[in-house]
Amino acid sequence: MSTVALEQPLRSRDTSLGTSEALPGGAETVEGTAGAPLVHSVGPTAAQINAPLLGWYDRERRDLPWRYGPGETPDAYRVWLSEIMLQQTTVKAVVPYFLEFVRRWPKIERLAKAKLDDVLAAWAGLGYYSRARNLHACAKAIVERHDGRFPSREAELRELPGIGPYTAAAISAIAFGQCATPVDGNIERVVSRLFAVREALPGSKPVLRSLAATLTPESRAGDHAQAMMDLGARICTPKRPSCLMCPLSAACDARALGIEATLPMRKAKAERPVRYGIAFVTLREDGHILLRRRHEAGLLGGMLEVPSTDWGDAEPALAQAMKSAPLRAEWWPVTGVVSHTFTHFRLELAIVRAVVRADTQLDLWADADRCHWLPRRALAKAALPSLMRKVIAHAMGDG
Ligand code: SF4
Repeated sequence: MSTVALEQPLRSRDTSLGTSEALPGGAETVEGTAGAPLVHSVGPTAAQINAPLLGWYDRERRDLPWRYGPGETPDAYRVWLSEIMLQQTTVKAVVPYFLEFVRRWPKIERLAKAKLDDVLAAWAGLGYYSRARNLHACAKAIVERHDGRFPSREAELRELPGIGPYTAAAISAIAFGQCATPVDGNIERVVSRLFAVREALPGSKPVLRSLAATLTPESRAGDHAQAMMDLGARICTPKRPSCLMCPLSAACDARALGIEATLPMRKAKAERPVRYGIAFVTLREDGHILLRRRHEAGLLGGMLEVPSTDWGDAEPALAQAMKSAPLRAEWWPVTGVVSHTFTHFRLELAIVRAVVRADTQLDLWADADRCHWLPRRALAKAALPSLMRKVIAHAMGDG
């Protein structure tokens, strides 16, 4: 922990956090944007952090397929692809998708030329499907506007589809060694502990970003960012940080105060609302299934789905719901419901199922132009989100 005697002036820090004044115990108040005082310790300096952190990273870094070795030039395409995939998704889930993408589309020009539907199908199961649409749009923009080369500066990167402040900073630092500071969930946790920040997330995000920036070195900024990510993933873990093994323990204020396991604090989340719908699983006797393409904009945009009623706040009455059925058939309710959690709500889908003749026409009451029959043997490679795979599996009795 940094010790600051009462008679000593506090170190000034160019964090744009507002005015500071000394408090006993090496803490300072920082006036937040809403005028409320936030309290955190003075915390470590870049000089205290960087040598032990980079030394640890050189010995212990995770071996990940998008990483480059010492002396190798980072490939911005692989850095970008991995960072988009890793948003809201674990490393374990991402690795097979990353390997498949770079096998099929080893260069950005190849990805830019791919059909969007093939990209969506390859992304199926990874979730947050707007990322896949933006990935494809970004690849095209890089080829058309930047001659196939990623720009190195954050401001230019942020003008590209699907690249926000975090991803721009990550690409800029990791692929190009620019002095940029990406702050993901792992880094938020490490910084909140290093500086003993007791303001709750998500309100503390601007403070954490500013504090993280004070630690970013001029050289090896990319390694520094990846080292912080690795430290958060392996040592400074959410529930039981392994402080005894941590290369930064001597400089960590939360550790010195014995409050590391309580940080970062989080504002209690409001409970997710529940939405309801009925899905129509329509099977043809010759082994086809009826699917519908979702609208491009919005949730699961552009992906395939089992046709369903709208998803509303109340459980739909069956008689009313049947007016949304895609064709006239003998519909049988399937026991149970399929639940799926999205970021902002939980969905409960009841299912009705029908088996129709092979010569059944698409006698559709709505959305005919967005529907088609797909051979069931082709389902594995279709652009179907996990939710719809669960619906089909449940309707077929293997869910
Ligand atoms: S000493 Fe403990 S709390 Fe502090 S950064 Fe290391 S693992 Fe995290």
